[in-house]
Amino acid sequence: MVVELISVGTEILLGNIVNTNAAYLSKQCADLGLSCFYQSVVGDNDGRLSEAVRTGLSRADIVIFTGGLGPTQDDLTKETVAEVMNKRLIMDEDSKDHLIAYFDKRGIELTVNNWKQAMVPEGSKVLINENGTAPGIIMEDNGKVAILLPGPPNELIPMFENQVKPYLLQKTDGVLHSVTVKLCGMGESKVETMIEDLINQQSNPTIATYAKTGEVHIRITAKEADANKAKQLIKPLLKEVKKRFGTHVYTTDEQVTLEQAVVDLLMDKGFTLTTAESCTGGMIAARLTDVPGVSEIYKTGFVTYANKSKKRELGVKKKTLKGHGAVSPQVAFEMAKGALEKTKAQVSLSVTGIAGPGGGSDEKPVGLVYIGCNVCGKIVTEKYNFNGNRAKVRESTVVAALTLLRKCVMEFKDTE
Ligand code: ATP
Ligand code: MG
Repeated sequence: MVVELISVGTEILLGNIVNTNAAYLSKQCADLGLSCFYQSVVGDNDGRLSEAVRTGLSRADIVIFTGGLGPTQDDLTKETVAEVMNKRLIMDEDSKDHLIAYFDKRGIELTVNNWKQAMVPEGSKVLINENGTAPGIIMEDNGKVAILLPGPPNELIPMFENQVKPYLLQKTDGVLHSVTVKLCGMGESKVETMIEDLINQQSNPTIATYAKTGEVHIRITAKEADANKAKQLIKPLLKEVKKRFGTHVYTTDEQVTLEQAVVDLLMDKGFTLTTAESCTGGMIAARLTDVPGVSEIYKTGFVTYANKSKKRELGVKKKTLKGHGAVSPQVAFEMAKGALEKTKAQVSLSVTGIAGPGGGSDEKPVGLVYIGCNVCGKIVTEKYNFNGNRAKVRESTVVAALTLLRKCVMEFKDTE
């Protein structure tokens, strides 16, 4: 099966918006095992769009359009594709009801041009838009398929996931099964280098990396006649990936987050945890308490933002603060030490850093963070230099702290 993508919108041609829909759809098609040989962008012009539709349908089995499904005059994808495919537009009652309900719920009055969105080419399959008004459309004709999707990504992505993907799978006689291997403590380029050979020789299953803040996910996807066969096909590659990344793999369960994995590990060891946060201001505590049942191991979280509270709550020494500054390995060390002693937990985690935008210097730039971890009195501190704005630095700190905690607990031996 050959697919072609046509993104409609003058905004894209002018560089006002980035064509993220094309990137998303290409990746999805590749995962589905569909070949995509051409992608194009056409402005909101019916003549040029007609030409693109004809060309697309002449060389691909399936043409996926995005954008131009809205209510305004310049939204002309549906009208143009219908014309080229010789289909009349008729009122779709379900879409009409959806429109009325959508506007009713929001207390907005429907205008005449909105009805245009409920008009669909005769004989087409209508896709519900969960996040907007314009329905998506699948048209089949003479063995060719045109799929029309709305431009806004928050409308397009769920529509594709929930309605188009199952349609395409059924077209290609197969099912997709994916496994995600989640890694922490390693950057994306390192991860990619370590599986470069696997990426280069991939076909079915496919393998791809996805960078998250402080984490990398590797998705292995197989396409087969049924789910069991797909799982079997994935097995050897999954085993190989797990072998290569060892303890950096924190889960292969799509549902499990890093904080969940950390909590599970602590429960497993029977360790309780205390956090002592400065620049993250409780974000680590928030992430941990996202995990249901965490109360069994998580008892106390300090937010000691001022030097005074670092001294009072955690017993950080005045001398240490004066001599090394609040953002120093020594202070991270004493915070981790104090947190454990104050609460009698087995494990503590401390962070101190400069989140920015102000407060940086040559010696201590924005993004400099020290994280301390204390496991039963064995204290480790690590230095980090994070990039990005305040939010990014803080988010990176949270992930790095959970990663360090996991590492220290895993490496801890009772005999120490
Ligand atoms: P609407 O009902 O909002 O008019 P539409 O289906 O007619 O939706 P367009 O009018 O083409 O779509 O685009 C609406 C918005 O969707 C754009 O302003 C842009 O924010 C986003 N969008 C459109 N096409 C793309 C694309 N290819 N990649 C990313 N975003 C896009
Ligand atoms: Mg529009």
